Amino acid sequence: MSHRFIGPFPAMHCPFCAANDTKVIDSRLVAEGEQVRRRRECLACGERFTTFETAELVMPRLIKQDGSRQPFDEDKLRAGMQRALEKRPVSVERLEEAIAHIKQKLRATGEREIKSLVLGELVMTELQKLDEVAYIRFASVYRRFQDLNEFREEIDRLAREPAKP
Ligand SMILES: [Zn+2]
Repeated sequence: MSHRFIGPFPAMHCPFCAANDTKVIDSRLVAEGEQVRRRRECLACGERFTTFETAELVMPRLIKQDGSRQPFDEDKLRAGMQRALEKRPVSVERLEEAIAHIKQKLRATGEREIKSLVLGELVMTELQKLDEVAYIRFASVYRRFQDLNEFREEIDRLAREPAKP
């Protein structure tokens, strides 16, 4: 028998006997990682039920290099990535997938605040999977490559690698 119960988080009472001693049997991310679907079993009465829990809808705030804090801004993130991807053969769908991945990873940190550098690294990781040119464009601006040699080495390295399909 399957019961569906949309419950608040983190208080998780058994919907049958109201005990709060429940065991998670199975857990998976749903709704593009915005919710956690859990199968639970009540340790008091043994009934099983499913919960959909919103893990952390609030994105962590970003700590800038100068120590100031800024709220996560998805539009700004998208604009930055679009700039790097300008005239590159990458579909809107793939860009949106990459943005969803980044948000998922930020939420998964469970932190209230993270360094903006962490976000930058996540963006670079995703861009590298999408398009090498876009990655280089973004990295050159974002990392402000310490010296020109480092930048040149990166370009040489990419030139040596066979193009991805
Ligand atoms: Zn129960």
